[in-house]
Amino acid sequence: MAHSVTFIPGDGTGPELAQATRRVLEATGVELEWDEHPAGEDVFREEGTPFPERTLASIREHGVGIKGPTTTPVGSGFRSVNVLLRKELDLYACIRPCKAYEGVRTRFPETDLVIVRENTEDLYAGIEFEVGSNENAQLRETLARLGASVRDDAGISVKPISVFGSERIVEAAFDYAERNGRRKVTAAHKANIMKFSDGLFLETARKVAERHPDVQFEDRIIDNLCNQLVSRPEEYDVIVLPNLYGDIVSDLGAGMIGGLGLAPGGNIGTHAAMFEATHGSAPKYKGLNRVNPTALMLSGVLMLRHLGEHVAGDRLEAAIAAVIREGEKVTYDLKPSRDDPSAVGTSEFADAVIEAMNANAV
Ligand code: NAD
Repeated sequence: MAHSVTFIPGDGTGPELAQATRRVLEATGVELEWDEHPAGEDVFREEGTPFPERTLASIREHGVGIKGPTTTPVGSGFRSVNVLLRKELDLYACIRPCKAYEGVRTRFPETDLVIVRENTEDLYAGIEFEVGSNENAQLRETLARLGASVRDDAGISVKPISVFGSERIVEAAFDYAERNGRRKVTAAHKANIMKFSDGLFLETARKVAERHPDVQFEDRIIDNLCNQLVSRPEEYDVIVLPNLYGDIVSDLGAGMIGGLGLAPGGNIGTHAAMFEATHGSAPKYKGLNRVNPTALMLSGVLMLRHLGEHVAGDRLEAAIAAVIREGEKVTYDLKPSRDDPSAVGTSEFADAVIEAMNANAV
């Protein structure tokens, strides 16, 4: 049976990356019916919204989508499409595998992590009180009555972490571990300092872990985790984190595997999942057929596995890995020097991946 998938090319370099990804996904032989809809800067210019209702309706209908990056112009008045998507569809889990492929220059070649970041709570919940505002004064008065004094020249951001939010993100981490043959989940926190927010996250994580005896569980204080990730990355497997730490450690992981051009991602909720690269729209390369489609192609691999197409997902990942290992038909960022004349374009990289799949070389 064909899988219906919402296809959002995005803007900037998004359309060229999305087209290359669509071609390699089709070449796996999995039947995919694309329902293409716009999002981002270009459609904002034409229709006055970066995220038309029909795009959202399509994702709601199909439950699965793949998206090229979209620009969020600074000071434009429109909110990030990615934030809107996560909010509208309650895509509470951000899954970011960080695997160092052979052939990529990295100081951490043993890295093979999966970062599971909570997407909806924590300091990113947007509960903020501006210095000098009435609301800020009221909140400080309430806090003073409760015995907590805050300077009157302080801006205040609130960090809510709930049992509900913690339970579902830790469940998502164990679910990913079980479905993908992973051995261990590590929960990262700062529960020694923030006892009632991070402490609750940790307590909840421990309870969830009891329900999954076949996967090991451990916890790490976030600063210690960062230290250990760059000294002993091979000891880590799936790492689950609240929103802020998850954001930071995701980029740390991307750096460890050789850069943003290689880091895929998926935002998963109860009713929908959206797959996209970690990087942005790299607008300065728009239309140049130059940027690396690996991150979006690997997001496509995640999508195939999400759809239950594990064999196709493994084949596509192996083909991408083979092209990178070979090092010949790769984009400029994967060459020893950035102006290497032998670098190929986005589209030719896709051709090489398709060739590798067809040649049964993988
Ligand atoms: P960016 O990730 O777009 O680009 C930063 C630099 O990283 C690029 O100039 C390029 O040198 C390199 N790079 C990024 N992707 C690459 C690739 N596939 N291959 C090779 N090199 C690559 O970050 P930015 O410039 O900060 O953001 C540009 C726009 O993208 C902003 O409007 C931002 O809001 C948006 N953004 C979108 C998403 C998303 O859609 N998921 C994510 C992050 C940023």
